[in-house]
Amino acid sequence: MAGKITLTMIKPGAFRKGHTGPILNMIKEAGFRIIAMKLTKLSTKQAEEFYAIHRSKPFYNSLVDFMSSGPIIAAVLEKESAVDDYRQLIGATNPENAEEGTIRKKYAESLEMNAVHGSDSDENANLEADFFFAKSERTDCM
Ligand code: GDP
Repeated sequence: MAGKITLTMIKPGAFRKGHTGPILNMIKEAGFRIIAMKLTKLSTKQAEEFYAIHRSKPFYNSLVDFMSSGPIIAAVLEKESAVDDYRQLIGATNPENAEEGTIRKKYAESLEMNAVHGSDSDENANLEADFFFAKSERTDCM
């Protein structure tokens, strides 16, 4: 399994604006298989935990507030080179630097409200998948 999954979230801003369908379609068209998915909402505590690595950053509190401000979609995506290929599909963290045709270029509202999350390593992909999903909620484990 290692190296073949990544974890994405459709963040509250993109969910609120109704971009879930088009984003999931881009994910499918790019060749990813959705092996787990849920509509949920992060509590403040969960958002703090998920972004704990950014605790010392000046934008941490604002990011936590934003990420717990409304519903999100969390999903585990499967594909060869899932982490790298998905980072390419979503584009740069700052949408101003994201390439044309990427999810963030199309749907991000700002650097913070940048539409989607994508894991940055295989190790984090597995940790983040476990953060959201029990094994019984993943088709690869059913
Ligand atoms: P990612 O891996 O591309 O999502 O980027 P990071 O791990 O560096 O940052 C996590 C999230 O924090 C980003 O997706 C943005 O939502 C937010 N973020 C990153 N840098 C900044 C910043 O300088 N200001 C603000 N307000 N938010 C930021």
